[in-house]
Formats: sequence, C-alpha cells, structure tokens
Amino acid sequence: MTDDTATDRLTELAKRRGFFFQSSEAYGGVSGFYVYGPEGATLKENLEDAWRDRFVRREGHMEIEAPNVMPEPVFEASGHLDGFDDMIVECPECGASHRADHIVEDNTDIEEAESIAIDDIEDIIAENDLVCPSCGTDLAGEPVDDFNLMFETNIGPGSSSPGYLRPETAQGIFVEFPRLKEYARGQLPFGVAQVGAAYRNEISPRKGLVRLREFAQAELEHFVDPEADEPDLESVEDVAVTLYSEARQDDDGGEPVEMTVGEAVEEGIVGSAWVGYYLGVAQGWYERIGIDMDRFRFRQHRSGELAHYAADCWDAEADTSPPGADPDWIEITGFAYRGDYDLTKHGEYADDDFTIFKQYDDPITVERATVDPDMSYLGPEFGGDAGAVADALEALAERDRSAFEGDDVTVDVDGEEYTVPVEKTGFAVEEVTEAGEHVTPHVVEPSFGVDRLVYTVLAHSLTQDDAGESEADGDDEERTVLTLPPELAPTTVAVFPLMDKDGLGERAGEIAERLRRAGFEVAEDASGSIGRRYRRQDEVGTPYCVTVDYDTLDDDTVTIRDRDTTAQARVPVDDLPGVVADLRAGETTVGDR
Ligand code: AMP
Repeated sequence: MTDDTATDRLTELAKRRGFFFQSSEAYGGVSGFYVYGPEGATLKENLEDAWRDRFVRREGHMEIEAPNVMPEPVFEASGHLDGFDDMIVECPECGASHRADHIVEDNTDIEEAESIAIDDIEDIIAENDLVCPSCGTDLAGEPVDDFNLMFETNIGPGSSSPGYLRPETAQGIFVEFPRLKEYARGQLPFGVAQVGAAYRNEISPRKGLVRLREFAQAELEHFVDPEADEPDLESVEDVAVTLYSEARQDDDGGEPVEMTVGEAVEEGIVGSAWVGYYLGVAQGWYERIGIDMDRFRFRQHRSGELAHYAADCWDAEADTSPPGADPDWIEITGFAYRGDYDLTKHGEYADDDFTIFKQYDDPITVERATVDPDMSYLGPEFGGDAGAVADALEALAERDRSAFEGDDVTVDVDGEEYTVPVEKTGFAVEEVTEAGEHVTPHVVEPSFGVDRLVYTVLAHSLTQDDAGESEADGDDEERTVLTLPPELAPTTVAVFPLMDKDGLGERAGEIAERLRRAGFEVAEDASGSIGRRYRRQDEVGTPYCVTVDYDTLDDDTVTIRDRDTTAQARVPVDDLPGVVADLRAGETTVGDR
C-alpha cells in the first residue's frame, strides 16, 4: 500500500462516514478550512474531554474561555506582529505562492529549513534549480519574503482599531494574568488552560486536518516560580520516552534514543524538569488516546528553530504514513519553556501588574539608598530639566550609591551631563523592612493541536482485516476497522434487532433507550444483514454491538460483540448498562464473559 492510497483511504472514509471534509465545497471549497461531520465532531469533543481530564482536572488547573479577536497592542507585546512570519516565494509564471522553506525541504537533503535565513534560502533555491511545485517554472532569482500569518480585522467601524484573530490561544491567558492570579489567590504555581480556535493564514495548507487556517488548540500555561517550584518528577521518572535530541539530529544518521524521563532530565538532555514532567504525562496520555507509540517521538527544536519566546522546546511528532512507507512526521504538540518572556512583555506594554507578590517567611531588613533633592536649588539651576535631574539622581542612588561619596555627583539626562553638590541631593541610606518581593512567573507550556491529534488517532487506528479473518462475524468479507479507544469512539454501543419484525425492533428500541439513559452514545440500525451492520459500525470505530434476537424475547438476554476481537458473549439485558460501562473502562473484555 502506498502512502497516497492510505491517505486517500482515510480521506475517503472521513468524508463518506462524516468525520471531516473540506468546507464550502458548494462554492468551490476554501483551502485550510474543514468541517467536522457528525462522527468527527463527537470524536473531537471526546478527545478534548480526555485532554481536559488529564491536563486540567487531574493536574488541578483551571480552564478559561477568552475571545478569538484581540486588539493590536496584544500582538505588539507578544512579538507576533513583528515575528510571526513564514517565508513566501511567488511563482513569476502562474502566480502561485509557496512556502520557500518547504520547497527547499521537499527537494534537497536539508531538514528544518525554517531556521535558515531568507537570503540563504534564495541562494539554495538558485543553486539547486528549484522550481514552482504548481507549474514547474524556475524560481531562481525570485525574491523570498516574510509573510505574517495573522488574519487582520477591524474592531468596530473604520480602521482606527485594528484587531487580529488569535494565532494561538495562549495570549488570551497571558493577557488576563492580572485577574487570573487573583483566582489562584496570588500563589504560585498554578496552571490555566484553554481549548479553542486559533487562526493562521498558512501560505500552503495541506493534507486535510494537518495544516489548517482555522484549527483548534488545547493549551496549558503553567505559571511557576523558577526559584522555588519543582514538578512532581517522581511520578513520571520511570516513564520511557523516545527522544530525538538536537545532538542526535545534528549527528548524520543519528537515531532517536529511548530512555526514561528521569534519565533525560538528569543527563540534561531535556533541559527543564518541568518540560520533562509534561513529556512524561503526555506520553501516557498519547497511549490512552490510541496513538501508536512505535510511530512516535519527541523531537527537540534546534537552536535556529526556536520560537521568539522559547528557551527549550520539544515537539511530540507522529508518523502518519502507513508502516513500511516513507515516514511523514507531523508535529502534534509543542512543549516549551517560555521563561518570563510573555508576562514581562505584557508588563512592559500593558497598564497592569503581571507579577506575583511573593511573601517572605519572615520579613527582612535591607538598606536602601534614597535621595530627597533640594528643588529650591535644582529649579533655578536647571530650569525645565530639574524634574528629570531629580529622577536621574534617584535611579543612580538605587544603582550605585558609591557615586554619592564625593562632594559632587554627575548624572546623565538624554545625553547631557548635570553636576549637583551631594549636599543638595538629600542622599541617605536607611534601613527598611520588606515583607516580600515581586516576581515574574516563568511559563511552561504544553500546546496541543487538536485537529492533528484527531488526524493521527484516525490514521493510527485505521486497519484493514484480510478477507477471512472476520469469520466469527459469519462472513469472510474484508473489513475496515477504526480501532479507536472506547473513550474516544463517537458511538459506544450499537443496537440491532436481528430482524425488524415480531417485536424485535421495538425491543431493540427499548434497550437502546435504556443505554442512552445510562449515558452512552447509542446507534440503532435495522437494515441489511447483521454482518453488514457490524461492518458499518467497525468503520466508525463503535467498540460494542448488541444484537436482539428471538432468545431475547424468551430469556431477556442479548449478544454483545467486540469490535477488535469479534468475540461475542450473552448478557442479561438488566446487566447491559453495567457491562458496557465495565468494558469501556477496560475492567473486563467480551472474551472474558
Ligand atoms: P505552535 O504554536 O506552532 O507550536 O503550535 C502548537 C500546535 O498547534 C502544534 O503542535 C500543532 O499541533 C498545532 N498547529 C499549528 N499550526 C497548525 C495548523 N496550521 N493546522 C493545524 N494545527 C496546527
């Protein structure tokens, strides 16, 4: 099976069975915008719930929901206005725009071309005779430019108040920090999560859900005191992870290595214990949602590739090609140690306090140098500059009290020097008691791309039985199965009447209703052979099917069948809700019953 046929099969299944499809197709379709159909919307929701369960509820963090549109100053402060660019090259012949770094990666041995300077990319395009992927025209000599990925809009009528669709959900959390810290009672550490839409005007959207212009993120911003807070590394230190470090990537032919989170942090391969902690937690979560961990790795960002805010960053990457084909690694999550970059920037640009007041155990006494300039001297002496001279004296006293040891002290105001007799500065050193200090928290950020997770889970769970393997179902037709974890499956249980007569249909309806009341997603299907109905449910990943037959009318039992093993068991109807709950929780299997 080639890469393309596997991808095509997933895309075809996704569209036919209602997982996802391109939007606005009636108007020709728009690249980078997708619709989740009925199955896909529930799968995505279940995946987000599983994320919340692990990264919000279990960690004791909070979740917020902030607006998608934010005003321009937010993105001046965050650095997105200036630095959130991709490299674009336009074809002189057909006018198509392409990502210049992708053209380089696809046609040379160079990896991660994103980190190469624009001028060098232009040279590489020329030296390698690279051509337009759409029409084959030579791109040598064509300018490569920066293209900002944010969608701009106007807030209100006119253009005086520009706004942007958020390119990441994170800024909605950082901007609200002054209030969020109140909810955390001013105590570090605390984490705030957000699940929602992000928008990037990608130059070349690709592969369905992988590169979208509107996509969903599940982000957690964990605010910590770098001096005092430590993660619960012990709880994940024995978790084995596959790490593709920067050194391994630089080493020609270097392969990723497997080690425990504890070893990786101790040996400094993962630079931050906090990042190590989240790699360990995430590893378990990826297993839980059905990602094939043989086609998975954590890859460290190379220095040139690091985002403008990040100090150490690892990506979780999944290979979404079928086994045997050339790997197709996609980034499904970014883990970044963002330091104090975000809060410091918003503190500089915004009119609010982005620090936490950290109370000392016991108040401390410190010496502080102060000035109290004699303005009746400074005023006549320096005129309109007297205030600025007084401010400069105050700053100098804080910075360098030895400057006040002589008879005169000299300060610089806008490049001009002013000399003042020390006796006119009111210089003094006094003892003050301090109860604490203001600290700017550091941020640890796991940032999950929900759509890429949905895509990976689907790609990794799509399997095809050989004809004959499914004889337990009573036929030998080839079957397509989505082996989704029951927690994620859009439908948990499907109920079939053997035939829609003699009261079997009504009984099946009652049983389905009972299961719905117990909280399960239930499907009903009465058309075609039972084997055909199993196939329909297998294709959308329904883990359990229940058949109501003539024995049901006699002894009130039904047959329950497992999607993956096709094993069957007979279960009393009264026990059914409990049995399905146990099966879904993994506490029993159909084969054990
Ligand atoms: P980033 O802020 O670029 O690290 O993105 C965080 C996560 O969002 C990534 O790990 C991806 O899973 C996801 N992501 C980024 N860009 C896109 C996109 N254009 N389409 C879908 N998912 C994306």
